[in-house]
Amino acid sequence: GDLKKREFDYFKLSLQWPGTVCRHTKHCCSSNGCCRGSNAPVEFTIHGLWPDYNDGTWPSCCSGHRFNVKEIWTLLDALNKYWPSFSCSSVSDCHGRKGLFWGHEWEKHGTCSSSVTYDEYNYFLTTLNLYFKYNVTEVLREEGYVASNTEKYPVGGIISAIQNAFHATPEIQCKGDAVEELRLCFYKDFEPRDCADDSNRQSDMVYSKASCPRHVSLPAYVS
Ligand code: 5GP
Ligand code: 5GP
Repeated sequence: GDLKKREFDYFKLSLQWPGTVCRHTKHCCSSNGCCRGSNAPVEFTIHGLWPDYNDGTWPSCCSGHRFNVKEIWTLLDALNKYWPSFSCSSVSDCHGRKGLFWGHEWEKHGTCSSSVTYDEYNYFLTTLNLYFKYNVTEVLREEGYVASNTEKYPVGGIISAIQNAFHATPEIQCKGDAVEELRLCFYKDFEPRDCADDSNRQSDMVYSKASCPRHVSLPAYVS
C-alpha cells in the first residue's frame, strides 16, 4: 500500500524510568534487556524518538524500510546501555514480524522522520546524541529528585526543574504514583520546545494528560 504520510511537525524524545517499567517485568530477563540486579540502570533510558504533529496525533510506519541491526553495529554498546528493552517478549514491527525493541521503534517512528534523520543509522545516532545532550536524570538529581522507594516528589517541582534547565515544558506519564516516562520535545532543528502547543498550554494539558498525581515517586529498583 501507499505508506506516504504527511510531513511531521516536531520531535518527542520519550524516556523511560527503569524502576517503574521493571516493576512489571522484574522476574524475567530477555537477551536485549534486563531488569535484574546490577544491570538495571538507575537513570532514565531511551524509549524512542518520535515525530509528531502539532494537532496531537502522529504518523507511524512510514516506509517499507526494514530494520537491519547490521546498520547500527557500531552503536550497539551505547544502545544496549542507554536504550535497553525491559520487556520479556519480542515486539511486533510494522509488518507483524517479531523482533527487537529497536526495530519496532525504527519502523514505527524512525521511518517517519527520514526528512530530518535520513536513515536507520542516523536515526539511532541522533537519538543517542539528544539523550546525552539533554540529561534529564542529571537535571533532576541536582534538584534532589533521586531514585527512592520512600520519597514522594511534587510533580510540579519535577516539571519546573526541566523547564528551568531546557527552557521548555516536558510531558510526564505515571503508572499509579510512579513516574514511568518523561518526554522532551524539540523543533526539527533540535532546539527544545514545549510538548504542548499554544492552544492547550494554558489549560494545564501537560498535567491532566499526564496521568500523574500531585506527588510522584521515582522507584528504585528492588531485586
Ligand atoms: P502509551 O499509550 O503507552 O502512551 O503509548 C503507546 C504507544 O503509542 C507508544 O509506544 C508510542 O508508539 C505511541 N505514542 C504514544 N504517545 C505518543 C506521542 O505523543 N507521539 C508519538 N509519536 N507516539 C506516541
Ligand atoms: P511503542 O509503540 O509504545 O513505542 O512501543 C512499545 C512496544 O515495545 C510495546 O509493544 C512493548 O511491549 C515493546 N517494548 C519492548 N521493550 C520495551 C521497553 O523497554 N519499554 C516499553 N515501553 N516498551 C517496550
